[in-house]
This record gives sequence, C-alpha cells and structure tokens, in this order.
Amino acid sequence: MTAATGERLETPVLIVGAGPAGLACALRLAQLAAAGTAGTLSPDDIHVIDKAYAPGMHTLSGAVLDPVALAELVPDYAEQGFPFEAPVSEERLLFVTKRRTWRIPFAERLFGNDGCHLVALGKVVQWLAAQAEAAGVNVLMGVGGAELLIEDGRVAGVRTVDRGRNPDGTPGTQFEPGAELHGRVTVLAEGAYGSLTQQLREDFHLAGDNPQVYALGLKELWDVPAGRLRAGTVWHSLGYPLDPSMYGGGWMYALREDRVSLGLVVGLHYPDAAFDPHAALQRYKRHPRVSALLEGGRLLRYGAKVLPAGGLWAIPKAGVPGVLAVGDAAGYVDMQRMKGIHLAMKTGMLAADAAAGVFSGAVDVDELPSDFAARVRTSWAWSEMWKARNYHQGFSAGLYRGLAHAALQLVTRGRGVRGRYPDHPGHERLMPNRTGTPQALVPDEQVTFSRETSVFHSGTRHEEGQPAHLLIAEPGICHDRCTQEFGNPCTRFCPAGVYEWQEDPSGAHAKINAANCLHCKTCEIMDPYRNIRWTVPENGGPRYEAM
Ligand code: SF4
Repeated sequence: MTAATGERLETPVLIVGAGPAGLACALRLAQLAAAGTAGTLSPDDIHVIDKAYAPGMHTLSGAVLDPVALAELVPDYAEQGFPFEAPVSEERLLFVTKRRTWRIPFAERLFGNDGCHLVALGKVVQWLAAQAEAAGVNVLMGVGGAELLIEDGRVAGVRTVDRGRNPDGTPGTQFEPGAELHGRVTVLAEGAYGSLTQQLREDFHLAGDNPQVYALGLKELWDVPAGRLRAGTVWHSLGYPLDPSMYGGGWMYALREDRVSLGLVVGLHYPDAAFDPHAALQRYKRHPRVSALLEGGRLLRYGAKVLPAGGLWAIPKAGVPGVLAVGDAAGYVDMQRMKGIHLAMKTGMLAADAAAGVFSGAVDVDELPSDFAARVRTSWAWSEMWKARNYHQGFSAGLYRGLAHAALQLVTRGRGVRGRYPDHPGHERLMPNRTGTPQALVPDEQVTFSRETSVFHSGTRHEEGQPAHLLIAEPGICHDRCTQEFGNPCTRFCPAGVYEWQEDPSGAHAKINAANCLHCKTCEIMDPYRNIRWTVPENGGPRYEAM
C-alpha cells in the first residue's frame, strides 16, 4: 500500500501514530501474526502512518521509562540494543522558592522510579520503528491523517491530508487529494489531543466520566560541563516559578554526565490569563540551583507538547466498531508517577491482542472496543491508573490543597472521601487578566532565551505556500471580546509565539505565524472561547532529531 494520492486503499490494520503506543501495537501484532495466532493476518498487512517525516522527529528526548511493558514486548531488549541512557540512580523532590530549595523525601516514592531508566525518547521511537519494520510492519512517515472515514456508524479508516493546496485553500497546480485508507481495524495512537481522536470523541459522544484536562510540558535539552550532575540523577520540583494557584513543577534529568533534559510542566487549567509558560520556563532557569547547572553549557533543543492529566475518569468510553484509541490519545498517563510511556506501550499491546482476535475469528469486529476495554480493565495498566484515579483533581484548587489531597489519596489508595472527584475543562477556569501586566522577561541568550531563539532550537519548519493550519473561526471575537476580557492570552500561552496581536491602519487583528507551530495543541485547549482550531498541516512540524 502507498498513501500518495486520492485513491481508496485497503489495509487490514491501520495504526495512526508512530510513537511508543502505535509502534508497540504494530510490533505486538506482527509477533502474533508471525506466531500464527492472528488468523490469516500477515505482518505486512499492518500499516503505521505518522505526520512526522522520520520516526522520533516529533518526540523530544528526556524521559523516565518504567521498562515493564518493554520487557513484555521484547524480553531480550537489552541484547537487542535498546537505547537506555542511564538507570535512575538518585532521586529528589524539591520545594522551590525564588532563592532556596527544600527536599521532600517522603513524597519521592510517589514517582515509583525504582528500576526505571532515563531515555532519549526520540531514540526509543527510532528503535521501536526499526524493530517493527524488521518484523515486517510498513511504517509510512510524512503521512498525516486529516479525518476519520465513517461508514454506517463505524470507523472505516482515515483520509490523509490533501497536498498542493494554495494558501487560500483552493487546489494548486500540484494538487493531490488525500488518500482514503480503509482499515478493518483502525488504532488511534496519535498522542495527546490528537485530531482524529478528538473527532472520534465528539462525533460519537465518547467523553469519559470527567472531561479530559491537560498539562503543557516545555522541554529543553542541554550539553553541560561534565561532572555537575551524576548520570541517572532525577530531580522534580514544586513551587517557583509557578503561583500556588497553579499545578505544575520543574524537572532535571541527567541523561549523561554532560547532557541534561530539563523543563517545566504547567497544568492547562491555570486561572491567570496573563500567565506566560515560556517566560516561566526562563524564570525557572534563573533559579540559582538551575542556572549553576546550566552556566557554560549549550542549549541543544527546545520543544513543547501537552499530556493528558485527567487520569482514569477522563478516559473516553470504548464504543465504536472498527476503532480503538490507545496511549496518550486516550489519556493513559499516570500523573502521580508522572509517567506514560509504559502505559502507552501496554495499551498499544492490548489493542494488538484484541485485533488479533478479530483476525483469528475469536472476536467479532463490532465487539472489538468492548473486548479491548475488558483486556485493559484486567491489566496492570488499569490497576496503576485506578490507584491514581483521583490524584490530579485536587490540584484544580491549587498547589497546597492539591498536596493535601495527594496525601489523602495515598492513604486511601486513590479513593479519598468519595468514589469519583469531578473535574472541569481547563479553559473554563481562565479568569480575566488578574495582574494586567504580561510577565516581561529580558533573556540573556546564554541561559534564558527569547521565544524566537527557543523556536529556532526546535527546528520547526512548515513549507511555504500551504494553507494555514491554525484557523480562527470568528475573528470578531478576538477584538470585540477577548482583548477586553482576557487580553488575548493566545499571545502568551502559545510556547512558540505563533500568535501576535497587531494594531495597524487596517485595524486590530491576530497575526498567525503558523510556520513556528510546535504542534503542542495548547491554543485549542486554552482558548476561552473555543475559537481556535488546529488542523493537520500538509507537512512540517518540529524536527527534534534524536540525540
Ligand atoms: Fe502549540 Fe497552538 Fe502554538 Fe502551535 S500554535 S505551538 S499548537 S499553542
């Protein structure tokens, strides 16, 4: 199968997303097919598509991996050259004020880092893609899914993005309509806030018991003078530079003696419309403890992505024949442990087991979602999510109440004083500009950087001449309401400076620098009017490159 033009193409299994979830699904299914336990399915009947132009390009390095799912998928992963950076050797949870830090040792066990490893996630994705291809799977890069194909109340596959449109959306001279990729089984593994998964939730009303909420992770990769942190050191911090009304914190991981991943996670349910996540990351690096690590070092990469933070109650219902959602796309992240790669891989593998049942005749294709849901519910992935089912909701009332709530969760094994704690979408909590002053910061371009310099280090690129992939449904809302009510927060919450507010002779309007977009989806999540729509571009995006 090729995915070049407006043809209708058939494949037994279509997986959207070549990240840990999608590739674990593909590899597991190829293993089952090779073992003869997936009926007539052959490994080359499995197709994975991804909008990045190469595996790992949209995956920024620096993560803590619990290898539990990896050990199930490839038991001899060490002999197969799995790209570990360092085992976790030292762990700290710090409470940080502007100048000082205090260790909170009793809470460090929340992260469950025993036996875990630091990894460069881009390299992990490259390794998984190579394993899947060696097993016979077709991994097609540079192919973005534009919309779900829905036929007779079931998902029949995916239509890929058109190519060669003019900036105004009309077909250009090189126009190629998207291909219709029909899969008997379609697995959505697009990552958090994936466009197709959003369509699935909305068209089929599959929202979970709670609405999904998100956190934005801003990440940097640095080369630093060797010896400042022992390889395998993991620091997480709470407090500065975030206001106590917010959820989030910083991290520093020493991947090697001379390479550090650091960043800031910010719950996308903060109240202050004047808050600027990129400026907050720069402030974090000005903390004496962080700047002492970075001074004399060199920024290698910058990136941003969102992660689902709502936990188990926000996982969407399974219920549409022909399709499954796995990993971050479906919300499988344990916010108590701040980990999701192992859950992404495990849910991808469980989707493969369910799909194999379809091809062996053991499961009717219409029963695929319920079969998958039953497999998830009896797995360790569900047990882990269950223990943290009410963890994140406490932070909707700010850091201190969230910490008290987290302690109660630990004591009651996730129950608290009621079975399910409710939650609210993040954009509903944004309050009119409280400080009235956006938080200006003058970067030194050594340790702290402007948005322009940061975006340069993401390598993001979108070819000129394609239609803008960021759409504002009603531009009038921006100047008639948003300017007065929220002060155009898109100019601050976007970590890439895509949105600028301009006032010129033609009037006040938003200027959209779509070429800078990091594909993090923060704008669609945080826009208080639901007026911004992120669509899949013809091509482009960040180029993080595995390192
Ligand atoms: Fe993220 Fe939206 Fe900014 Fe792109 S435009 S970087 S998706 S916030």
